[in-house]
Amino acid sequence: MENNSTDAFRDKPINIDETGKSKRIVAKQPKGKWYNRRTYFAWFCILFLIFAPIIKINGNPLMLFDIVNRKFSLFGNMFYPQDTFILALIMLVAVVCIVLFTVIYGRLFCGWACPQTIFLEMIYRRIEYLFDGNHRNLSNEKYDEYSKIIRTIGKHLVYIIISFIITNVFIMWFTGPEKLWQIISSPISENQLGFLFMAGVSLFYYFVYAYLRQQICTFFCPYGRLQGVLLDSKSISVIYDYKRGEPRGSKNTGDCIDCKQCIAVCPTGVDIRNGSQFECINCTACIDECNIVMEKVKKPGNLIRFDSYHGIETGKHSIKNARTYAYSAVLLILVIVLGITVSKRTSVDVSINRMQGTMCQEIDINNVSNIYTVKLINKSNKLKNISFKLIDIPNGDLQFTTDISQLEAGAAIESVLMLKLPKTLLKGRSTDLEIGVYDSKTLLSTYTINFIGLQK
Ligand code: SF4
Ligand code: SF4
Repeated sequence: MENNSTDAFRDKPINIDETGKSKRIVAKQPKGKWYNRRTYFAWFCILFLIFAPIIKINGNPLMLFDIVNRKFSLFGNMFYPQDTFILALIMLVAVVCIVLFTVIYGRLFCGWACPQTIFLEMIYRRIEYLFDGNHRNLSNEKYDEYSKIIRTIGKHLVYIIISFIITNVFIMWFTGPEKLWQIISSPISENQLGFLFMAGVSLFYYFVYAYLRQQICTFFCPYGRLQGVLLDSKSISVIYDYKRGEPRGSKNTGDCIDCKQCIAVCPTGVDIRNGSQFECINCTACIDECNIVMEKVKKPGNLIRFDSYHGIETGKHSIKNARTYAYSAVLLILVIVLGITVSKRTSVDVSINRMQGTMCQEIDINNVSNIYTVKLINKSNKLKNISFKLIDIPNGDLQFTTDISQLEAGAAIESVLMLKLPKTLLKGRSTDLEIGVYDSKTLLSTYTINFIGLQK
């Protein structure tokens, strides 16, 4: 890449000064087509974050991660600890999706859908513009000292209130709205630990959004760090068209007039003209800003745009490469396995095992029995009227030590089953039997159990 700038930016992260301290980036407010699109999408994400645990599908929350009660709801489907395999598979598919998406579209997620960016850029930064003035016009400079102090106090008070609201939304994803309301509406003395946790998380959010800000993306986020291994020359990202822009300057040069407005608007302080850097979150602010400049100097827009190095070099825009195909194949296989596993998942989880240490019992001259432990979990949100029947042996006698006929939504029952059979039905020392589990008259699932005969 031809580039007139120095390589000093490679020596240290952009938002760290010479002494090693973090630099506060005061970015101008972006404006333009991409910023508007990002704003709409961000508000869609914020509304999803707020309402996902509140909206119910078939009586289940749209999203819930109730770790304490070991219940998870994904898009209205309840999962329990017995579904660990499915949850692990879903997470695996999600990770591969993220990797595949990143290989093709770079850090689009960071700039558009990451909660850190959404809250920082769409809420906290806008509060800052409101109290300090838009840095675009440096209007904060016009305030006197007294006004600045009042504005700073007001800004931080609003930061704290917003942090408290975000904390409540965060907690609601783990408790559900009903439990959250119960915590909030009860006296602090009844739930001191809960309120301490809430205060701690609120302060943490306040600290992150008021002070740490882009340092989270640069130093803490593992996803940002992965970019170095995931991106290649064909990955799509926000990129400066150096072929068109260089040599930069005001006269007899390429299209870049070196106004540095793309840097002024960047929330992480990146000079995108130096190429892709790990601090860049693909927020598109520099695209909008450069387009404003290009319009003013009457040159074509999109000097900075979504493209790849390969696209800039060759003028061809293609996302097809060997790595994309490989990730797509893995993803497809995982999605098929996930689909099959979820489709085979029953609403009632049943396990039937012979009780350890028990043998075949002779009940009378004609009948023998085996003893089993039975575990039932109702994974639906409806009451189940459970019954067990032997599929091919109508005269088999099933007796449970506890009543299993009514299984409440989300409930689990353990019982002991004594299965009595006529000796004439046994096929030697060991007989396989098929047993059906019913909800009222509907067959939910069948299981094969082993019945042992008397030792001779
Ligand atoms: S905003 Fe555009 S013209 Fe100005 S320095 Fe950046 S790339 Fe060059
Ligand atoms: S370089 Fe551009 S896309 Fe990247 S973070 Fe800065 S403004 Fe956003």
